[in-house]
Amino acid sequence: MSKTPRVVVIGGGFAGLLAVRQLERAPVEITLIDRRNHHLFQPLLYQVATAGLAAPSIAAPLRHIVRDQRNVTVHMGEVVGIDTRTRSVSLPDRQIPYDYLLVASGATHAYFGHDHWEQFAPGLKTLDDAFLIRRRVLSAFEQAEAATSAAERDACLTFAVIGAGPTGAELAGTLAEIARHTLKRDFRNIDTRKARILLIEAGPRVLSAFTEALADKARRQLERLGVEVHTGKPVTEIGAGFLEFGGQRIAARTILWAAGVAASSLGKQLGTDLDRAGRVRVQPDLSLAAHPEVFVAGDLASIEQDGKPVPGVAPAAKQMGARAARNILALIAGRKTTPFRYTDVGALATIGRHSAIVQLPNLRFSGLFAWWVWLAIHIYFLIGFRSRLIVLINWAWAYFTYARGARIILGNEVGKVHGGEKESSA
Ligand SMILES: Cc1cc2nc3c(=O)[nH]c(=O)nc-3n(C[C@H](O)[C@H](O)[C@H](O)COP(=O)(O)OP(=O)(O)OC[C@H]3O[C@@H](n4cnc5c(N)ncnc54)[C@H](O)[C@@H]3O)c2cc1C
Repeated sequence: MSKTPRVVVIGGGFAGLLAVRQLERAPVEITLIDRRNHHLFQPLLYQVATAGLAAPSIAAPLRHIVRDQRNVTVHMGEVVGIDTRTRSVSLPDRQIPYDYLLVASGATHAYFGHDHWEQFAPGLKTLDDAFLIRRRVLSAFEQAEAATSAAERDACLTFAVIGAGPTGAELAGTLAEIARHTLKRDFRNIDTRKARILLIEAGPRVLSAFTEALADKARRQLERLGVEVHTGKPVTEIGAGFLEFGGQRIAARTILWAAGVAASSLGKQLGTDLDRAGRVRVQPDLSLAAHPEVFVAGDLASIEQDGKPVPGVAPAAKQMGARAARNILALIAGRKTTPFRYTDVGALATIGRHSAIVQLPNLRFSGLFAWWVWLAIHIYFLIGFRSRLIVLINWAWAYFTYARGARIILGNEVGKVHGGEKESSA
């Protein structure tokens, strides 16, 4: 081992970044590797996808975030291999050795064995995904305006969101508001208020992580906004411009996927036990049984507490990142590591412009006050004063006007039928 211990952190998401910050004053050399140059606040990604916020409001360059932390070097690159035997990680052009490794490369969407659906129904995980979705949504209204038949117009004005967890519910609620309010005076040939927004869920209810009473309130709020909610109906097929569920086939130009999650494929490189979603089964202290110097944290880690899996949410990722870092310090100091213990800080979801549900360990509420709580918490956790201020001003403006400022279509989308033969662009 070199004199100063080398800690490599893969992933500058919630878990990786919290670990790096935890090691701020530690006598270690940290290399933070991420394939993207930015940390992303995923809980507000749907706002970028629906033109409410611009990208810099919810993302910040990793270099900038850690610029004052002298023991960190940021390396932008894709990790393609991990060799626990030689203790090094591989990027396409180099190997980076480590004494301690934290793998926090998160998760991505899963299409339950139907990978070809991705081209028709993009998921929401990165800023690129959000830009693609924004382009498809805004272009669908443009194409409806130019449609030459009622069938084409109806398909363009049908938006299907698959999966009624928080992201699906937030997307569907916001799309309904865009159609009913934001765009209602912008077009001449179509009435955007007639757009159909479908939210389709295979399970028996929306927002299954919340209590039944809160989930019912959220469903009623979605329906008030004009969202058609379908529960207990798994989607059986998706193709170019259509989807099938509950024995019916619906023509829809815009289909969005918010249904499944699979762990980052780096988990497989660790040569250890994985759960069904591909997450790494870790020891109570978040390390690997065969490699106590390797830790896994965040969405990639599979760990149970009181007989239940620790959920794949931002607070759990942050807490794991911090615990893994403290355990690395314990090993360096020759002390025993401490088991990870998840503190449930509650769950929030927003449904439309000023309604939300809040589920705290001992308190549950919904409605306008819940929305203010939701807003305050999300702004508080954004990284950087500038992004907090911009988001606050954006929201204040949108709250009173229904405006969505980021409605610029970039790229060539109008006229496309996704994944199908008719890829003629206007
Ligand atoms: C749309 C959306 C909305 C969400 N909303 C909420 C919410 O409201 N509340 C909540 O608590 N949670 C929410 N979550 C879940 C939450 O964002 C995750 O639980 C959390 O981000 C997990 O943190 P992580 O550090 O494990 O992974 P991530 O934050 O995903 O970070 C992983 C990092 O690893 C990098 N990476 C991946 N593979 C490689 C590689 N091979 N080489 C180099 N770098 C790599 C990625 O670029 C990324 O920066 C949401 C998730 C999404 C997608």
